[in-house]
Amino acid sequence: MKKIIQIPLPYWNERPKKCAVKAIVLHCSAQEGVPMIKLLRKLHLSSHFVIGSDGRIFQPVPEAKRAFHAGVSSWRGMNNLNHYSIGIELSSSSMGEEAYTPQQLASARSLCLDLIRRYNIPAQNIVAHSDIAPTRKPDPGKAFPWQQFAQYGIGLWYDLNDAGKVAENDVEKLLRQIGYNTDNLPAASYAFCRHFLPELVAKQHDTHRIITDIYPENFVLPKEYLPHLKACAYKFSKRY
Ligand SMILES: [Zn+2]
Repeated sequence: MKKIIQIPLPYWNERPKKCAVKAIVLHCSAQEGVPMIKLLRKLHLSSHFVIGSDGRIFQPVPEAKRAFHAGVSSWRGMNNLNHYSIGIELSSSSMGEEAYTPQQLASARSLCLDLIRRYNIPAQNIVAHSDIAPTRKPDPGKAFPWQQFAQYGIGLWYDLNDAGKVAENDVEKLLRQIGYNTDNLPAASYAFCRHFLPELVAKQHDTHRIITDIYPENFVLPKEYLPHLKACAYKFSKRY
């Protein structure tokens, strides 16, 4: 793996007792590596890693510490993902609307694989910020190649052939089986699309609106995509 450049930020605290690392949260921000770290400093936020579009990896917070990247969040029964996760920020001037660079994806893959191996992180827990905070966050955006990452053993992707193995047809229950908090069903459904059906996520040209208009208020998963959701719930029900 690439040499990791240490640029410490003071915004972290201790992980609560019994909160081992068991998740990776992927983010994006519009700034490049060093300016992004400056912005985090200004906002009193942090992340364990920042990956620039040139593929350079920066580390503002030691892995053992609790960085401030996820905010109010939940996933698969975990609340406050900062307790349990490693946060990785990717630079993306389009906020994840346009493709990430190959150098950046290569760095993200090797970093994730190393973390997964060292902490034995379950495949279900490699998530987007949008997965764990569906009403508040859009990142790392629909251009993040989750399907390709799953082929490398980072996170999960579905096989439509599995849809028939799931009897459940209730969208809310299926989303919950995957790990989503469904208190706001349109937001959770749209977050599912950001990760697993990016073709259903509207193209957003105005970067500002990406972070203000998180989900269409009345969004309902189109019926013809129910098999995708079922196949995904099936994948997430297995042990890895
Ligand atoms: Zn984020």
